[in-house]
Amino acid sequence: MAEERKERVQLTCRDAGVDCDFVAEGESVEEIIAACAEHAETMHGMISFPPELWVKMRSRVRTVKT
Ligand SMILES: [Zn+2]
Repeated sequence: MAEERKERVQLTCRDAGVDCDFVAEGESVEEIIAACAEHAETMHGMISFPPELWVKMRSRVRTVKT
């Protein structure tokens, strides 16, 4: 059995400055950033993120305990 209390990371679309309730949650920062990028591309038509937005979003990642 895996440990019950696992830390997860969370990032919202709002963290990127978009008025949207999308929340990406996962086990690694890379995972949720990728999920956010995919969401932004499909839902907001953002084909690529400028480097400063990646930095901004990484700084907004929160750790949540489940
Ligand atoms: Zn969004």
